[in-house]
Amino acid sequence: MPRPLAGRVAGLRPSATVEMTERVRAARAAGRRILALNSGDPGIPTDPRIVEAAHRAILAGDTRYAPAPGVPALREALAARENARARSAYGEGDILVTPGGKFALLAALMGTVEAGNEVIVPAPGWVSYEPCVRLCGGVPVALPMLDRVDPERLAAVVTPRTVAIILNSPVNPTGRTIGAEDLAAVMAVAERHDLWVIFDQVYADLVHAPSFARPHATPAGQARTFVVDSFSKTFGMTGWRLGFLGMPPGTAKAVQRFMQHSVYCVPGFVQAAGLAALALEAELVPGTRARFRARQLRAAERLSAIPGIACIAPDASFYLFPRVDADDRLVAARWLEDLDVSTLPGSAFGAAGTGHLRISVTAPEADIEEALDRIARAGLPVASAA
Ligand code: PMP
Ligand code: GLU
Repeated sequence: MPRPLAGRVAGLRPSATVEMTERVRAARAAGRRILALNSGDPGIPTDPRIVEAAHRAILAGDTRYAPAPGVPALREALAARENARARSAYGEGDILVTPGGKFALLAALMGTVEAGNEVIVPAPGWVSYEPCVRLCGGVPVALPMLDRVDPERLAAVVTPRTVAIILNSPVNPTGRTIGAEDLAAVMAVAERHDLWVIFDQVYADLVHAPSFARPHATPAGQARTFVVDSFSKTFGMTGWRLGFLGMPPGTAKAVQRFMQHSVYCVPGFVQAAGLAALALEAELVPGTRARFRARQLRAAERLSAIPGIACIAPDASFYLFPRVDADDRLVAARWLEDLDVSTLPGSAFGAAGTGHLRISVTAPEADIEEALDRIARAGLPVASAA
């Protein structure tokens, strides 16, 4: 290597979630039968009618550059859908279609963070928040919020350099939603300190609770919030790379230039698939949600019966975040090596997740049952005396 690479990538830590998925893939390619409880992929095949819509679009010649901010019909449909469920007031021009929610997050940070600015990130929190903040030259500041967001703790970590706060609800890895009162209190802190809010709601269609609070439900909230969302989890479309960003009024033109100069556009045929997915939402999503709920409840009950594990089913998503009376990294490593069951240690989501495991109920049901059988038989590993 002639010169060292830029610190921006050289110093970036790997994604623990992506690396575990690669590890499972490699172990399976080598002939091991891994029962995967680690995956952030809902594991549902994309509905054939969605696939056909993309196929038709490709055959009809939709293989050239698409409009950089997204196809108007899809942006319009996404604005109308968000307005209907969040009581927001987006126009087509406020929506940016992105290659996945991950790029929507990056676009929001690119648009708000200058070098040296601080961005508050949830802890425990999804593995890509801190790296994306750093890629934009920002400094991530962890806000502990294992059980709830405490507005007083939030106010205590705000400094004159803070420009934004990333909120995620439902939360990856805990699977919990942020309650309406806590969210309102956080928005009041954001208002007081004039902070941008980046609200990642990629699991919003998998909320099992009767209601779900969104910061962009009021005009004042919408004015300072970038909303990150995705087709990945809702429709089993992780590999299509289709997400979107809801942008505050007046910010879209500038943020779109980041699209123009980077990936340019999401392929038109992928956006055609997105439109077809939205048309099928009412038919497909309730069943998906109910299936994950039933699996979560069953897994929580079975895990709680194991000595040293405490598990309450959260009110959203397809994750569980049980507490384990053991070293979480040791548990995840031993279960993978000895039981062929993959999970993620809670500490992969930051120190605040230590002593927990992230368990997904996205594998085929027979695999989940077998994995839980093996875990129940083996129990928690006992750390060997050093
Ligand atoms: N946010 C959270 C909290 C996630 O778990 C994920 C899953 N990858 C994403 C954003 C991004 O998802 P995607 O890029 O597949 O839309
Ligand atoms: N978000 C999922 C997870 O947490 C998928 C992997 C990723 O994008 O990090 O496992």
